[in-house]
Formats: sequence, structure tokens, C-alpha cells
Amino acid sequence: MTLRVGIIGAGPSGMAQLRAFDSASQNGADIPEIMCFEKQSDWGGQWNSSWRTGLDEHGEPVHSSMYRHLWSNGPKECLEFSDYSFDEHFGRAISSFPPREVLFDYIKGRVEKSDVRKYVQFNTVARHTSYNQDTQEFTLTVENLITGVTTDHVFDKLVVSSGHFSTPTVPEFKGIGSFPGEVLHAHDFRGAERFSGKNMLLIGASYSAEDIGMQAHKMGAASITFSYRSNPMGFDWPENTVERPLITEFEGKTAHFSDGTCGEFDAVVLCTGYQHKYPFLPSDLSLTSKNVLYPGNLYKGVVWQENTNLFYLGAQDQYYTFNMFDAQAWFARDVMTGAIELPSLAQREADIQLWLERQAALADHNAEADFQSDYLRELIAATDYPPFDLHAVSQLFKDWMHHKETDILGYRDMTHQSVVTGTMATKHHTRWINAMDDSLDRYLNGPSQDVDTGTLTALTSEFSAK
Ligand SMILES: Cc1cc2nc3c(=O)[nH]c(=O)nc-3n(C[C@H](O)[C@H](O)[C@H](O)COP(=O)(O)OP(=O)(O)OC[C@H]3O[C@@H](n4cnc5c(N)ncnc54)[C@H](O)[C@@H]3O)c2cc1C
Repeated sequence: MTLRVGIIGAGPSGMAQLRAFDSASQNGADIPEIMCFEKQSDWGGQWNSSWRTGLDEHGEPVHSSMYRHLWSNGPKECLEFSDYSFDEHFGRAISSFPPREVLFDYIKGRVEKSDVRKYVQFNTVARHTSYNQDTQEFTLTVENLITGVTTDHVFDKLVVSSGHFSTPTVPEFKGIGSFPGEVLHAHDFRGAERFSGKNMLLIGASYSAEDIGMQAHKMGAASITFSYRSNPMGFDWPENTVERPLITEFEGKTAHFSDGTCGEFDAVVLCTGYQHKYPFLPSDLSLTSKNVLYPGNLYKGVVWQENTNLFYLGAQDQYYTFNMFDAQAWFARDVMTGAIELPSLAQREADIQLWLERQAALADHNAEADFQSDYLRELIAATDYPPFDLHAVSQLFKDWMHHKETDILGYRDMTHQSVVTGTMATKHHTRWINAMDDSLDRYLNGPSQDVDTGTLTALTSEFSAK
């Protein structure tokens, strides 16, 4: 009987799984019966952004946590598909840190070429899953959000690719309930324009805090204060930006910090992270983990330890993104088809433990980048995913982190070299701090490519040009 594969979510991870099967079929392999369910009306996951917050038009929780003016926060050379380069998609070299719409266009390009959209049922949300031990089959109940009709589908293999940066973690702070200004989680942040002239407090010390804080600076916020729980981010911030330790309490507009300092604020953004949440899965199939590079219970970060018919993609904290989802999807595909034979439960457990021990000993961000590179190396070696120089990508991550330390507002103006094609990125026509139009059109066809980005003046600033 033909293998029946269900995929939940058509973000970059789910798209990678579709592409992995398509790639095998182009090499002559039988393609299984595939059904992919996506609750939004288009694919792309986080990259298919939404202006909505809270609930969507169907009353479902809005998936997107992205916002206007989101430019890639890592070099595109670190996430490039090794079977579909940026050169192939855009037909020319582009800069290293493109905005959201450009990366969305890139990931769509590969799957549109592959003709795999036919497998995806859009506006369809996964509601409930059960597993029959005797028949070794999953029954997945999905709801068509347009018609309201629910249907059951039976699968031999189930892939969970529903993302884990959508359900916010919202801690309590004494007195925050009577803070008179706006309080929102990063998940609901859609743009910093309205914070121009405001004093902003961002709670958190990770990517969201850093990027939303610098977005606010770019859009003219009067001051930015970060509050950290464990360690400050420690970048060389602009003059209007400071880092403070944990908040002890709010008193009206005033926040008190554990170092005895305080400040008055107009708005608070909780950049306090996200939870793994899989409401469509029973607890024995549901991953519970913090946002870490190697969640336990997943062999090779992909195969559910107690039920090897279940697969998770993209469940890790992410240095690598699109190309890691590929490596995982190719690996999952080969486990599903039997091309990769799984070791025993005990051997898998021992392997997981080795990775967990190594993770526990990671000293710094450089070691984390190497760790995830090694993880990809192992996955890629097991499949026919086109190999690429992971050592070089690890070095790109380190260069990028160093650039951030040197210039937190300027690191996106740096250029890096593709490890897939060898192409050197071009300098973008407008420096990130001045780029106020993040559309694909402006990115590709904006001011003449002759503009010397090093000598940009207020006149060439897109902001002042408006
Ligand atoms: C604010 C923000 C900024 C980021 N910036 C970058 C960046 O600059 N560079 C980078 O490489 N990465 C970035 N990321 C990481 C990003 O998560 C990954 O690039 C990528 O989107 C993860 O892909 P995914 O498919 O695993 O999950 P997602 O992109 O989250 O996609 C999951 C999909 O599953 C669907 N889904 C969820 N639940 C259900 C259900 N029950 N039924 C049906 N469908 C469902 C969703 O609608 C969604 O389409 C950022 C993430 C966030 C939140």
C-alpha cells in the first residue's frame, strides 16, 4: 500500500518536507500520498506575515509574530538552500540581509517550481490526533475554516511543522496591571512607527528585544530601556538605549529595577519568548521543551522517540533555519520510506543523551553555532541533500555576531559570501538605518545601484525622500 503522509503546517519546515519528497520523485522514487494542512490562506509560515493581532478572520489565534520593517536578522548566506540558491531565484547577487518580503519570495520560488502546492489544503486547521497502536495509524481531524466542516484523515506517518514562535510566554510583574500605557507581547508587535517620541521598556534580552528595540530607535523612539533576567545583551547601544536588570515592580508609569534604579515609560513590550504548543496532539505525542538547540525526546532532533512514525521539523532554537529544515525534512523522508533504518530505542536514547550532554556544556554563542553546524553535518551525511561547507557557515555566524558587537545598527550593511555559489553579496543601495521601505520592489529596484552606501547623506535616506 502507498505510504500515507500527513503534514501539519506549510511554513518553511512543512515546505521543506514537500520539497524533500518532490526531490526524491525527480530521482525516480515513488511519491507517497501526501496531505498538508495549513490554517492560513497561504504558505510561508512566519514569512507570510499578518497585520492582525489576537484572533484571525476565522477566530483562530493569529500565527504570525513578524512585523513591518523586519529585515533578516542573520546573513542570508547562513540559510541558503543548497538545492536552490539566491542567484538562481533572483538572477543576480543581492545583499546579505534582505527584508521579510524578499525572503518570502525566495522560499516560495523553490516550491512553486516544484509544483507541490497541490498537496496543501489551505484554511484548514489540525484539531485533533489519535494513534492506533494495533494498526499503527494516525487519525487526524482537521477543520476547513471556510466551511466549518471537519474531516478525518488516516496516515501512516505524521509530520508536525507548526512552528514554535507563536504562543507567547507572558510572565506576571507586580503592578503591571495598572501601568497606564500600552503593554503588549512581541507576538502582537506589528511596527514601531507609533512609538516615535515615546519612552519604551522592553522586557527580555534575546533576538526579539534587541530587534524591536532597534526598530523603535530607527522609528524615532525617545528612549529604549531593556530589562534582563540573567545577563545583559551588552551591545554598544545608541545613546538613548540602556540595559537594566529585572523589574521588581511597576508603580503607575514607573518601573523599578532590581539595581535600585527606576524610570518612567510610555509603553512596555514583553519580549519574553514563546512556548511549544501543540493543541492538536495528545500529551504522549506532544513535545514539551524550552526553546533550546536540542530538545530531548527527538532522535536526531526529528523523530519522536516513543513513536517513530511521528516527526517534528524546526522544533529547535535556530541559528540555521531554511537549510536546517531541509536537512531535517530529507532525513525524515528517508526514515519514513525506510531508506534510513532506525537504531533500537536504547541506541537512539544514548544518541539523544550525547547531544544533550554536549548542549549542557556549550560555553558561548560561537560554540552554539558550531553545535548546530555539527548537527546539520550529521543529518546531511545521512541523505542525498546537496552538501555544503558547514564549517564556512559556522564562520559566517561568528563573523555576524562579531559585527553585531562592533555595530548593532550597522551589521546589516555588511556583505557575506555564499557557500553554495561563491557569489559575494552586493552592498544594499540604502543603509539599514535609513531604509524605510521594505517592499520587494523597493529592495530590488530602489535607488540606483550606483549609490555609494558608504557616503549616503540625509538626501538619500528613504525617510527624508518621502
Ligand atoms: C519575529 C520573528 C522573526 C524571525 N526572523 C528570522 C530571520 O530574520 N531569519 C530567519 O532565518 N528566521 C527568522 N525567524 C525564525 C522563523 O521561525 C523561521 O525562519 C521559520 O519561519 C520557521 O518555520 P516553521 O515552518 O518551522 O514554522 P512557522 O514559520 O511558524 O510556520 C508554521 C506554519 O504552521 C501553521 N500552523 C500552525 N498550527 C497549525 C494547525 N494547528 N493546523 C494547520 N496549520 C498550522 C502556521 O499557520 C504556519 O504557516 C523569525 C521568527 C520570528 C517569530
